Amino acid sequence: MLKLPIYLDYNATTPCDPAVVEEMLPYFSRSFGNAASRHHVFGWQAAEAVEQGRERVAALVGAEPGEIVFTSGATESCNLAIKGVYETYASKGNHIITSATEHSAVLDACRHLERLGAEVSYLESDQDGLIDVEALEAAVRPATILIAVMYANNETGVMQPVRQVSAVARDRGVVFFCDMTQAVGKIPVDVNRDGLDLAAFSSHKIYGPKGVGALYVRRRNPRVRLTAQLDGGGHEKGMRSGTLNVPGIVGFGKACEICGKELHDGRERLGRLRSRLESDILESGIASVNGGAAPRLPHVSSISFEGMEGENLASALGRDVAVSSGSACSSASMEPSHVLKAMGLTDEQARSSVRFSIGRFSTEEEIDYVSRRVREIINQTDQKEVKL
Ligand SMILES: *Cc1c(COP(=O)(O)O)cnc(C)c1O
Repeated sequence: MLKLPIYLDYNATTPCDPAVVEEMLPYFSRSFGNAASRHHVFGWQAAEAVEQGRERVAALVGAEPGEIVFTSGATESCNLAIKGVYETYASKGNHIITSATEHSAVLDACRHLERLGAEVSYLESDQDGLIDVEALEAAVRPATILIAVMYANNETGVMQPVRQVSAVARDRGVVFFCDMTQAVGKIPVDVNRDGLDLAAFSSHKIYGPKGVGALYVRRRNPRVRLTAQLDGGGHEKGMRSGTLNVPGIVGFGKACEICGKELHDGRERLGRLRSRLESDILESGIASVNGGAAPRLPHVSSISFEGMEGENLASALGRDVAVSSGSACSSASMEPSHVLKAMGLTDEQARSSVRFSIGRFSTEEEIDYVSRRVREIINQTDQKEVKL
């Protein structure tokens, strides 16, 4: 039986997998120790749980456990990577290259550094949301210390050519930071194959709890150094002080383990559901897929509806179906999406878009219900316009 409301906003956050919750529970009460307490069994148990979590998180992305720094989420990881490199490499230069379609955690960290004297180049994107690798190469200067380009976009799912980006970074001796929050757990990601030096990701986007994330920090070829942004007890090899969120890390680890097992089948299933949703919605005749011609993650679709307001469509669906509109993506602001605008959409086109993101618990039945509801709303809107 179809159960309402239907959740199609998995890129905003995901429910915890029940197996994740189960794994976490003992660490709230029975095994509540501080992982930094070195002299008793409570501390040892917590530290052991953290190290198992670290191994599982590292395994999902092909890293060594010692290269994983736990944080409060991808926003913190992005800030630590960008600001940490800026401080550490200040004697080498002050220039950062990023792209216009990055998440605000990256863009706002860069803007913050601009106020402190950094020079930042924002690479343009083409109509499909892709950066131009030649433009990236041309933007590198002797003073360039960091290239920050995301793996896949949270609004459109468009995947940047990260291996080409990392080849440029390697060739020019520049650190490459990749926000891989949306790609991890959905497609195979490997920090060595992909040539990432620093990479951010988050537990709550992959069926783990909120408030915990990771920063991958390369330790070899080359070893990347970072200046901590939180000072204190020197946890996480001095890169991120603060008592570790043991239940969160345990849950994050379990979530990574499950994602690793389900990666292959999950990817195919999500791709099938997404194609079904897109082809049904495109039948309306007024819809187009943003970034549709680019390589994309399998589970997300950003669709513009000509002549409609994405906000209105999302609200009309809101009681039964959870999606997000192009403008709602930029959190509190009602500005049209900077991602869609960077792809050349007008304000009006950007405002006419809705993001559908499918996940582990989505069903074919739900997808069919959603596309039927979307077409109904479009038809009703048409009729109203005719009456006017
Ligand atoms: C969700 C998201 C973030 C922020 O992650 P939090 O863990 O919520 O701070 C950063 N980048 C991308 C691409 C995201 O999708």
